[in-house]
Amino acid sequence: MQTLPVFTELPQLRQFLLTERKAGKRIGLVPTMGALHSGHLSLVQSATEESDCVVVSLFVNPTQFGPNEDFAQYPRTLEQDMMLLSSVGAHLLFLPTVETMYPRNSATFIEVGPISELWEGEHRPGHFRGVATVVLKLLNIVGPDLAFFGQKDYQQVCVIRQMVDDLNVPVELRVCPTVREPDGLAMSSRNRYLSAQERADSLVLSQSLNHARKRIRNEQVYNREQILAEMRHIIESAENAVLDYIALVDPENLQPLQTLSESQKILALLAVRIGTTRLIDNAIF
Ligand code: AMP
Repeated sequence: MQTLPVFTELPQLRQFLLTERKAGKRIGLVPTMGALHSGHLSLVQSATEESDCVVVSLFVNPTQFGPNEDFAQYPRTLEQDMMLLSSVGAHLLFLPTVETMYPRNSATFIEVGPISELWEGEHRPGHFRGVATVVLKLLNIVGPDLAFFGQKDYQQVCVIRQMVDDLNVPVELRVCPTVREPDGLAMSSRNRYLSAQERADSLVLSQSLNHARKRIRNEQVYNREQILAEMRHIIESAENAVLDYIALVDPENLQPLQTLSESQKILALLAVRIGTTRLIDNAIF
């Protein structure tokens, strides 16, 4: 296995990518915060199928964490991440420091508007401002033809798509399906915070999404309040679970659906605290 080239400075990265671009290579970008798992690796694999030079960025972005969130504790597993990235065929790792991404005089931030104020935006004020800012910076630094994101963070994709459209960013977005553990838990770097009991409790997220899908699509139950109550009931059955939000929304604009129907595509969204760990998940059906 080849060692993975690592770039921490912008001029060297830019020079390398210029040469790649001149050689006619299609560049794919996979932004991550590290502590990689099979969900991240599936994005890299998709990127290798569609691009000749796959750039993975690893940056725990301080501006997307609230003051009482887990920035300092966020898992950092660089050596293992690099081995995993080599094994799935990433071509280079961009590993900037906070000072490189946010020099002292940095003062510009991206606000994406209403889509970023709902759900996660409401519960994590400033989160999407940080996400949009860092993603636009990464897109400007790398200049990829394609950028890969996970459906796991569905609202994040909506926010990035809005930004890319509004600001005419010349990149094509790709959205990859959520990768799950065999028992249904969506893979997340934060899953490693869970104790054994909490790990068992965390199954209520995917269980409640699956329940909603079954009730609506198999049993044709279109009573919105009833479905939401049943989903809440499943979440509350776990001792350590506290619901942040749960919603049945329009997948296009994330607005709550007033009525459910056979023809209406439904996005079920939820955020749950399991002990001190906050997990999100979603499903479209
Ligand atoms: P993160 O490192 O958590 O910022 O995630 C980096 C990228 O990986 C984002 O586009 C996420 O949506 C994506 N991702 C995270 N978890 C999963 C998963 N379980 N399945 C698919 N993609 C994921």
